[in-house]
Amino acid sequence: MTKQFVDGIMEQVVTRNPGEVEFHQAVREVAESVEVVIAGNPEFARAKVLERIVEPERQLMFRVPWVDDKGVVQVNRGFRVQFNSAIGPYKGGIRFHPSVYLGIIKFLGFEQIFKNALTTTPIGGGKGGSDFDPKGKSDNEVMRFCQAFMSELFRHIGSDTDVPAGDIGVGGREVGYMFGQYKKLANVFTGVLTGKGLTYGGSLARTEATGYGLVYFMTRMLQDRKTDWKGKTVVSSGSGNVSIYAVQKAQQLGARVIAMSDSGGYIVDPEGINLNTVKRIKEVERGRIKEYVNAHPKAKYTDGCDGIWTVPCDIAMPNATQNEVDKQAAETLVKNKCIAVGEGANMPSTPEAIEVFLGSGVSFGPAKAANAGGVATSALEMCQNSMRLNWTFEEVDRRLNMIMNSIYDQCIGASEAYGLKNNLVAGANIAGFLKVAQAMMAQGIV
Ligand code: NDP
Repeated sequence: MTKQFVDGIMEQVVTRNPGEVEFHQAVREVAESVEVVIAGNPEFARAKVLERIVEPERQLMFRVPWVDDKGVVQVNRGFRVQFNSAIGPYKGGIRFHPSVYLGIIKFLGFEQIFKNALTTTPIGGGKGGSDFDPKGKSDNEVMRFCQAFMSELFRHIGSDTDVPAGDIGVGGREVGYMFGQYKKLANVFTGVLTGKGLTYGGSLARTEATGYGLVYFMTRMLQDRKTDWKGKTVVSSGSGNVSIYAVQKAQQLGARVIAMSDSGGYIVDPEGINLNTVKRIKEVERGRIKEYVNAHPKAKYTDGCDGIWTVPCDIAMPNATQNEVDKQAAETLVKNKCIAVGEGANMPSTPEAIEVFLGSGVSFGPAKAANAGGVATSALEMCQNSMRLNWTFEEVDRRLNMIMNSIYDQCIGASEAYGLKNNLVAGANIAGFLKVAQAMMAQGIV
């Protein structure tokens, strides 16, 4: 029954979306988890809820022409996939990375539907991006690109329609340039983007939110094992927004973080990563992680980022990109006695790796639950923008912590209700799906 149901959905998805392998992977995982829900709720099957969810409500693809510093015309491709608005306006980040194509944006947008449902805030799912590579570009080039990108996107978004945010390659600088262009074109000052600067509507703690939220979520995973962060050895891949603030919170809670990476390679510092150095290199100088060893000669740099999972640790946080932990990496982590894995990145573990973790008693926090703190805090930013009020850092952080606890409870509750105790992958998919499915049922066939 399971195989037949999932195969049926997948046949439709693969035929309609050829070559979009990351999207197929994301859909399969959800279909496998929610088959049991649909079997128990025949009205969902009759209303073809899952068949509708896998089809984006709207997808946009557009030309982004701009002129580089040498006066040469460049042409990139822009995307915005407005996946599902059953529970609120489309919401999800924008990714600038050369690997971006429709399949990446669709996998991210699809995941976002369920993640956003779990946050308890009223936001639908969407995602956008471009194959533009901000690396090595001047500030002026990044600004011109962001303006060109927004020159098309602005007509499709709005504070009650679709509210983009940052993701890989899109931080405060890019959000600022896009916001400025939106305001100029739409002639309205509104909370149309989140992750904004603090002087023009941004929320305190949004920068920290995904990383902090991941650690709050994992704190509950560790509590269920009757332990905590104190004295634990931690490895966190990536050295961008998510990784830096996950490391910061883990260190505050007493963990010893010994390894971080970027797409070039990874560093191991047995004395514990000095986060100020990482922040200077990555946030201020926009440099490479290998420069860390210049300031800390006892640390070691290794070329190639995959090797980071061979560094023995108690806790692993894949915080860089999709499919960065494969079966072999998962087996190595298990062999080295890793007890918990929390996904800060989106879909960083392959299905085979997840199977290894779930089968070995490792506590596993899947992305759509564990990294939902970022988008949840974006929803808090929308809320403050609507009220024209600013909450303190402590207030936002308190709400973030509450939301992460609620997400954990929903995942555990759903996993237990369906006889899959402690399987947070199934729990997250089921709890997220149920909320969206019920909203779709109430709104008719649209
Ligand atoms: P950043 O751009 O700030 O940092 C990304 C980090 O991952 C960098 O260290 C980058 O290295 C590395 N990286 C990116 N692509 C690859 C790759 N193909 N191979 C190896 N390393 C890579 O992005 P974020 O920290 O914001 O995002 C990281 C992950 O977290 C993504 O999966 C994103 O979707 C997810 N996420 C982000 C949220 C947010 O609020 N920012 C919210 C929820 C999820 P380099 O500098 O060399 O490119």
